[in-house]
Amino acid sequence: MQAAEANTKNAAQTVWNKRPLIISGPCSAETEEQVLETAVRLNKTGKVDMLRAGIWKPRTRPGSFEGVGTKGLPWLQKAKQLTGLPVTVEVATGKQVEDALHFDIDILWIGARTTVNPFSVQEVADALRGVDVPVMIKNPINPDLELWTGAVERVAKAGIKQIGLIHRGFSSYGNTEYRNAPMWHLAIEMKLRNPGMMMINDPSHICGRRDILFDVAQKAIDLDYDGLMIESHIDPDHAWSDAKQQVTPERLAEMLSSIRWRKEDTPSEEFHATMEKLRQQINHLDDELLQILGQRMKVADEIGKYKKANNITILQTNRWNSILERAYAKGEKLGLSKEFITKYFDAVHMESINHQNKIMND
Ligand code: PEP
Ligand code: MN
Repeated sequence: MQAAEANTKNAAQTVWNKRPLIISGPCSAETEEQVLETAVRLNKTGKVDMLRAGIWKPRTRPGSFEGVGTKGLPWLQKAKQLTGLPVTVEVATGKQVEDALHFDIDILWIGARTTVNPFSVQEVADALRGVDVPVMIKNPINPDLELWTGAVERVAKAGIKQIGLIHRGFSSYGNTEYRNAPMWHLAIEMKLRNPGMMMINDPSHICGRRDILFDVAQKAIDLDYDGLMIESHIDPDHAWSDAKQQVTPERLAEMLSSIRWRKEDTPSEEFHATMEKLRQQINHLDDELLQILGQRMKVADEIGKYKKANNITILQTNRWNSILERAYAKGEKLGLSKEFITKYFDAVHMESINHQNKIMND
């Protein structure tokens, strides 16, 4: 192995295992000066482990800046020499993989608009065959865990051993607080499906704006994510892409200092004993809830039989609305959100209907 190549491997290995792993840099590489100044200022904060920059930018609509292309790769190489920070870029085609590797990019990532397309993912995976480089895979833009899982499988089948996940939120139609709704439960489900696989949170593309970046980053850390990817720019308001969500390297450092970092575990015996007691209480309450739900379904069965005997429909909208109104009022006093009550009662109601349906058609 050439010395330069060996150094690249080492840098990638070390950074891959660093926790929390903090990745930052501009949405897009714009000019050589911008890339170098960003890298130097990020490095000066001492809080960033890896430099990111988009070289090829898949934009949803034509007419926006689509990246400087291959000519930006030597700028990243220079930034790495200048700061020692390993570098990562997004790749979406086989040619981009080749070019990125040719310029010693340490870690690659697959973007959200690529993860949705199995042909593109396969092309990237084919270009990775026989290459030893870590790859991070962003969630697809639509909330579909199978596509995300499929991309992981394709890259793994190409022989890539180090695969990480990036949660960047999911698009949803209409205006929400977020540019891409986090749908935390999906990322959590993906974490459960892939135990031990690195999961990075990307608050920049979730929020689409600076003012709520911190809250999303903190939530990710509270949920035991392995790190953060946050876009930074030396002059955010004039960035050529994603201007609203980028922060200066110095602002990023302030944000990172304010985050309350959590650990996953502690050797303290007292902590474990207390947790054990509380978890037993939870188990006990869960058992009771299940018992009660079972009883509730038995009553629903009775109602089903009675309705059948009298030839009455299963669904009665008025009754359902009054159940919900009662539950909202009670739930509020108990500190249960309207959103939770709705989801919970929808599920219970559906199960009730299924029970009654079976009885009515027996
Ligand atoms: C990006 O990281 O700049 C980017 C284009 O992200 P995503 O693929 O999440 O939209
Ligand atoms: Mn971006």
